[in-house]
Amino acid sequence: MTATQLEFAQHPSASPRTEAEREAILANPGFGNHFTDHTVVVDFTVDDSGEGGWGNARLEAYGPIAMDPAAAVLHYGQEIFEGMKAYRHADDSIWTFRPEANAARLNRSAARLALPQLPEEIFLESLRQLVAADKEWVPTRDGESLYLRPFMIATEAFLGVRPAREVSYRVIASPAANYFGGELAPVSIWVSRNYARAGRGGTGAAKCGGNYAASLAAQLEAEAHGCKQVLFLDQFNNNAVEELGGMNVFFVFKDGSLVTPSLSGTILEGITRSSIIQLAQDRGLNVQERTITLDEWRDGVGSGEITEVFACGTAAVITPIGELKDGDDVISAPDPSAGEVTMSIREQLLGIQTGAVEDPHGWLTRLV
Ligand SMILES: *Cc1c(COP(=O)(O)O)cnc(C)c1O
Repeated sequence: MTATQLEFAQHPSASPRTEAEREAILANPGFGNHFTDHTVVVDFTVDDSGEGGWGNARLEAYGPIAMDPAAAVLHYGQEIFEGMKAYRHADDSIWTFRPEANAARLNRSAARLALPQLPEEIFLESLRQLVAADKEWVPTRDGESLYLRPFMIATEAFLGVRPAREVSYRVIASPAANYFGGELAPVSIWVSRNYARAGRGGTGAAKCGGNYAASLAAQLEAEAHGCKQVLFLDQFNNNAVEELGGMNVFFVFKDGSLVTPSLSGTILEGITRSSIIQLAQDRGLNVQERTITLDEWRDGVGSGEITEVFACGTAAVITPIGELKDGDDVISAPDPSAGEVTMSIREQLLGIQTGAVEDPHGWLTRLV
C-alpha cells in the first residue's frame, strides 16, 4: 500500500538569506536565476517484497543534492518536471493555478518515463509546504510571481538499463519577472528544419528534461539567425505546426476563430493552452484543435485570413509571435503590434491568476 498523504518533517534552513539579501534579489529577479531558502523532498523506494512507496517527506534547506555518480538520472535521463507559479494577491494570500492539472500531467509524464505515480495530495502538500516556508519570496510587483519547479529523478545507483527503484521527488522555487524580460514585444521565431523535438511514439507529450536537451541545438541555430525561439514542425505530415521548444501556439483568424495544433502525441498538453481554449469558448469564439501547416500560416498571413499568432505557456503566459524565419524566407507578423484578441485573453488569464478578475472555473487554489 502506498501512502497518499504524508507528514512533512521540518528541517528549516539554519542560514536563510537576510531580509536585505532577499530584497536585493527581488528588486531584479529575472527568470530562473535565484532560488528560495528551502526545498521539499519525498523519496520513493521499493522494499524487499517489491512493493514501492513514497516516504521520508521533508522540508529542508535549499542546497546541492548528494547523489551517487551511478544514479540512473545522470546516465539515462530518467527525469520529469513541472512548471507552475504562485501569485500573491492584493490581500497577501498566495495562490496557484490549476495544480490538479499539473499533478495529473506529472503522472502522465511519469508513466511514459517509467517513474512511479505520485499521489495528487502529496503533490499539493509539497507546494503548500514550500510556499509556506518561503512566502516572503513571492514577489509583490505586478506581473511577477514565484515560479515553482517540481521534478522527479531516478536516484538509484545502477548502470543496467531498467526503471530505477529509488526515485526522488523535489520542488524548488524561483522568484520570477517577465520570462522574456522587459516589454511585451513580439518574439521572432526560427523554423527548425534540421531538428525535431519529438517523434511518433516518443516522449513529446511528456514534460521531460530529455526533450529540452534535444531542443538546444535548434535553439542555438535560432539564436545564430537572430531569433528568440524555435518552431518545430512535423516534417512527415506536410510540415504541420507542432509547438515551440517550451510553448504551445495559437492562430487567430479574421472571423474571430482560434486554431491550435491538435494533441497528436508529439505535442505537450499545456495547461495555459487548455485554459485559453476554455476562456475563448466562454467568449463564444470558435476554437479548433486541428492540423495547421506552415503553408497555411504563410498563406493566411499573406491573405489577411490570419490576423494574430501567439505562443503560450506558464513561464511567459501569452506572448505575441512576430516574424517567422524559415531559412531565407520570412513570414512577417500579421500585425506588427500585439493583436487585440491576444492581449485581451492575456489580460483575462493574468487577471484570474492574480486575483484581479473573477475566476469562473475555480482554477485557483490557495497555498498560504
Ligand atoms: C511546459 C511546456 C509547455 C507549456 O505548458 P504550460 O502547462 O502551459 O506551462 C508547452 N510546451 C512544452 C514543450 C512544455 O514543456
